[in-house]
Amino acid sequence: MSPQFDYDLTIVGASFAGLVAAKTAAMRGLKVAVIEAKKEAGARVRTTGILVKEAVEEIDIPHELTRRIHGVRLYSPRLDHTDLFAPGYYFLSTNTADLLRWFAKQAENCGVDFYYDCRFQNAERIEKGIKISGPDIKTKYLIGADGAQSRVARCFGLGRVKHSLIGVEWEYAMPKSISPPYLHCFLDSQLAPGYMGWVVPGPECVQIGVAVKDGCKPDLNKFVAKVDPIFNIGPHEIIEKRAGRIPSSGLVKRFFCPNVMLIGDSAGMVSPLTGGGIRLAFRFGRRAAQTISDHLLDRGPAPETVLAQELPWFGAKSMMRKALELSPPNFVLNTLLLRKPVIKLAQQVYFHRRGTGGVSFQDFQKEVERSQQTRILNGES
Ligand SMILES: Cc1cc2nc3c(=O)[nH]c(=O)nc-3n(C[C@H](O)[C@H](O)[C@H](O)COP(=O)(O)OP(=O)(O)OC[C@H]3O[C@@H](n4cnc5c(N)ncnc54)[C@H](O)[C@@H]3O)c2cc1C
Repeated sequence: MSPQFDYDLTIVGASFAGLVAAKTAAMRGLKVAVIEAKKEAGARVRTTGILVKEAVEEIDIPHELTRRIHGVRLYSPRLDHTDLFAPGYYFLSTNTADLLRWFAKQAENCGVDFYYDCRFQNAERIEKGIKISGPDIKTKYLIGADGAQSRVARCFGLGRVKHSLIGVEWEYAMPKSISPPYLHCFLDSQLAPGYMGWVVPGPECVQIGVAVKDGCKPDLNKFVAKVDPIFNIGPHEIIEKRAGRIPSSGLVKRFFCPNVMLIGDSAGMVSPLTGGGIRLAFRFGRRAAQTISDHLLDRGPAPETVLAQELPWFGAKSMMRKALELSPPNFVLNTLLLRKPVIKLAQQVYFHRRGTGGVSFQDFQKEVERSQQTRILNGES
């Protein structure tokens, strides 16, 4: 006799990938549980939480938890800079903790059961499913959305993230004081070997961080001292500290086995070049849930085989990551940064294929101001 299952789908990890998967699966009629080690979704956030436009095209989110950012200011090590923009394109900085709480609430409203303060340790195969020890749950399908150091991957002998960037970030209580209100990105092979530093105007604070390649140690104090003369950070209070690993080695070798699948950071679904993983967490969180419900409810094909055909390859981005990891000396970066081909490449990296469409920077600025005026006239913040 087949065992009685408590859930059709159990998801480990209540962050971007897990929460989107949970809501999607529950909306399609599956009985879903989420197991999360922290005391709630949104506790001890580890990410800067910037959403690229494509992420918001995947999943609609409340605009009051975000701040629109229309440009990127890219700095060389000696602090020369160039401004990048693309009409129609934007990034959203987020109140990330509240955004994750909002996702969790949405999933809860769809009937998802949450097991907080509950660390996934082990599981065993049973007939037609998985038995999870600890919360003692029998489930037909298990998703590991438990981040770069996935316990689910270890438990089932799946592929592991090989290399990561190490990111550290502090949040300062200095809302809306960054001018211009762009993403400020700093190349510096001494302070940020293999990646960069950033200053981001968030909806309620300013986020300042730095990430470095594996084997190096980020020194945020030094980075803050470097950018302090530009932003006058000194007198402001640090209200939160964040740190974490950003997978940088591309997709893991094996992201599934029967009845188990990894998504998000646990599967290495992060751009090796930019370190952005939220868009892919949204996309494959949703697609994983769709294919699992097709499989369980409608005898659709094995979810893993459908997803395997849709996953990004990251070929060019992985090559560019290798180049970045060489950490060109600062004098090379100083010379190269303001050259036209480099600016064009940076434009591609930040705005993907969405070019400037022949609009001048001044026209673009006017357009942005006009739309902000309209929002104010309409009584929007
Ligand atoms: C410093 C930093 C800055 C970043 N900035 C950006 C950015 O601006 N934009 C962007 O797109 N990407 C960014 N990233 C990457 C992005 O944060 C991740 O790609 C994204 O959070 C992946 O979501 P996820 O749901 O796969 O996993 P995670 O967000 O890593 O969440 C995993 C969840 O699983 C839980 N968990 C782990 N182990 C267990 C266990 N054994 N049992 C139960 N629960 C468990 C954790 O508590 C956590 O809630 C950044 C990453 C870092 C570290």
